[in-house]
Amino acid sequence: MDPVRVHFLGTGDAFSAGGRSQAAYLIQCAQGSLLLDCGASVLASLKRHDLASGCIDTILLSHFHGDHIAGLPFLFLEYIYVEPRRRPLKIVGPEGVENRVMQVFRAMYADSAAEPLPYHVEFMEIGPRRELFIDGMRIRAFQAPHDEPPLSLGYEITAEGRKIVYSGDTGWSEDLVVHARDADLFICECSFFETRMDTHLDYPRIAENLKRFGAKRIVLTHLGQEVLRRRDEIEPEMAHDGLVIAL
Ligand SMILES: [Zn+2]
Ligand SMILES: [Zn+2]
Repeated sequence: MDPVRVHFLGTGDAFSAGGRSQAAYLIQCAQGSLLLDCGASVLASLKRHDLASGCIDTILLSHFHGDHIAGLPFLFLEYIYVEPRRRPLKIVGPEGVENRVMQVFRAMYADSAAEPLPYHVEFMEIGPRRELFIDGMRIRAFQAPHDEPPLSLGYEITAEGRKIVYSGDTGWSEDLVVHARDADLFICECSFFETRMDTHLDYPRIAENLKRFGAKRIVLTHLGQEVLRRRDEIEPEMAHDGLVIAL
């Protein structure tokens, strides 16, 4: 097996443009499996691509929008009823992660959320310029201009000497150039083409900075309908659901 594999489980935006699933990326190395973001469609994505739902050791959340966290209640239920889990599940995210995740669980399945889970969930907070070591991976967070600060993060994840950078959902920030430098893989959101916002990236903005990123491989994701409609004009690689990258 390759030292590190990245499964692109969901490469669409909140609107599932083009029928794509919502944000979810499974990073696997010898020491563990990390699910990066957990969109509402995560269970369907895992099963469509023959990945065991129980393989996940840690879930790392970039921010609390539904297309990044709403899959968690379904995973909680899966681990109660379908793939009974005994080993702990680690969930890492911005400040307040435990409260937000449990709020979503209670809102969607009040009856199940009222009972103690049959497995331990360990919540860990991370913030800008902080780092954690989990399952043989080093996770470093940086601020992303998206949701109200400090609640939206991008990540540098280093596993087996490979560096993966994930923009999260983000407006333009020079920090992206700094963090993407020397990355083996830069997973960069690209929600729009014509529309320009301070809280998401558009393709022209990415194109004008493409040579500055310095990553060995850049893959665009979180693709919205403007981007999909004009895909012939896009130079870098575009992710698709089911893409697997070995590093
Ligand atoms: Zn968002
Ligand atoms: Zn999003």
